[in-house]
Amino acid sequence: MTAEIQQTRRTFLKGSVLPVFGTMLCGDMILAAPEDEKPQPDVLSSIERNVPLMRRSEWTVVAPRLDRMRKAGRFHRLTIHHSGSTKAVHTIKNAVIHDLDGVLTSHRQRRYGDIGYHFIIDYAGRVWEGRSHAFQGAHVLGENEGNLAVMLLGNFDKQKPSEQQLASMYKTIHALRKQYVIPSKNVYGHRDLGASACPGKHVYSHILKLRKIASV
Ligand SMILES: [Zn+2]
Repeated sequence: MTAEIQQTRRTFLKGSVLPVFGTMLCGDMILAAPEDEKPQPDVLSSIERNVPLMRRSEWTVVAPRLDRMRKAGRFHRLTIHHSGSTKAVHTIKNAVIHDLDGVLTSHRQRRYGDIGYHFIIDYAGRVWEGRSHAFQGAHVLGENEGNLAVMLLGNFDKQKPSEQQLASMYKTIHALRKQYVIPSKNVYGHRDLGASACPGKHVYSHILKLRKIASV
């Protein structure tokens, strides 16, 4: 991996909360030469069997900057985030797409190659495909290696997730853990890995429950 690295430039915010999408975002390293995206493992169809999955093409036409992303190794952990800042209770598709655009724009302004998260879950329980699994996420400063990123739209210090959103979170985590053989102890909230309140107390309590589930 290191042999591929031509240049490393970390883009990050100093521990603060973003004004609009408030997770502590932790950037893409800019490195390897561009390469074609690998075919996706059947993780997407595995998720799709259990929850409504919206493919990337359904919400954006913005192409990822492959030269700014690092090829993924084996995923061995998974981190849950929230978008933070404001509450989000949208169930209408276009309103959610507007939110997703906001996250993507914010990440691209920070010179990330793409939206930092692999999956985003909205208040209606839809799961939106984000960054390709061919690449590392950009979501926890210094902890992106082998770390899948799942983000829930909303601020879960200020609101509770809807039943549908929570159910989709559990199903998505289950599918990802099964696909990548991730033990339950390796399911984190952002706050476990960095100085952040993310994903908020009303989601973090579920992460703590998940950790008690017997490992695969
Ligand atoms: Zn976060």
